[in-house]
Amino acid sequence: MATVIDGKAISQTIRSQIANEVRLLSQKYGKVPGLAVVAVGITKDSPRYVEMKRKACTELGIKCLVVELPEQVSEAEVINQVHDLNANPHVHGILIQLPLPKHINEENVLTEISLEKDVDGFHSLNIGKLAMKGREPLRLPCTPKAFLELLERSGVGIKGKRAVVVGRSNIVGLPASLVLLKADATVTIVHSHTSQLENIIREADIVIAAAGQPMMIKGSWIKPGAAVIDFGNNAVDDPTKKSGYRLVGDVDFEEASKIAGWITPVPGGVGPMTITMLLKYTVEGAKRYIEKNN
Ligand code: NDP
Repeated sequence: MATVIDGKAISQTIRSQIANEVRLLSQKYGKVPGLAVVAVGITKDSPRYVEMKRKACTELGIKCLVVELPEQVSEAEVINQVHDLNANPHVHGILIQLPLPKHINEENVLTEISLEKDVDGFHSLNIGKLAMKGREPLRLPCTPKAFLELLERSGVGIKGKRAVVVGRSNIVGLPASLVLLKADATVTIVHSHTSQLENIIREADIVIAAAGQPMMIKGSWIKPGAAVIDFGNNAVDDPTKKSGYRLVGDVDFEEASKIAGWITPVPGGVGPMTITMLLKYTVEGAKRYIEKNN
């Protein structure tokens, strides 16, 4: 049976360290770290994601400013908001809830976030440096940073391993593959046009699942002993639940956990860790800003 990587418990340990840092900043300077979350329009999952971030901030004493903009807002207005937040001394991290509506160019918005406040790590300069050999980004995007921490704390090495990333989105799949490459894995990316992807996944020592397809990856596709990180966060109907749904990953956990060496559950795996990395970056940014401007 696989070791289940308990992202919730690991997150809790890191979050109590972050809460301590927040307390120290408040005692020493009377200042509180601030995270701004910009949400444009409402997509299926965005209210849940925004709420999770707001709750996590509140628990740690971080101020969370949610800027909700209507679906029809213009790109210029979103950029104006970003400029205001860049100038706001109480905001130390800015996160744009992705994806943005189609009429807004994501890159135009993300590149306007000041590098110092780019807590999601999606600024083109950060991603560009991540993609280049010999360059170091200011910070890694939260999604790959989350699984790197989980693998490291679970004693799973990356160097020389064969990794397969399922999905190539700007938010998860692509940055995950870049981070694994930088960590000296041999990386293959598969996507919706890949044929016979199960044969490719079978060769992987490390599988990063980020397709958004409920339980698509079967236990028989997993190489015995592999480390499986499941980003999938899919709501499926479940009349036995009060909410009417339950969350499942992209991996069939029941089957895969009998074959893998390590596996993250859904919920309680990489999801809470991604938010924890966001909080960590926000507090680091606040510390840098407050110490410099005190
Ligand atoms: P996207 O829909 O943007 O991307 C999905 C990717 O998976 C695409 O590259 C797509 O290929 C590929 N894909 C879709 N279906 C298949 C298939 N049948 N076989 C192979 N590849 C496929 O999703 P995101 O990257 O934003 O999110 C992926 C999942 O991760 C979702 O469940 C989301 O909720 C979750 N998520 C979790 C986070 C966390 O912190 N835990 C953070 C963000 C997302 P193509 O490019 O060809 O279309």
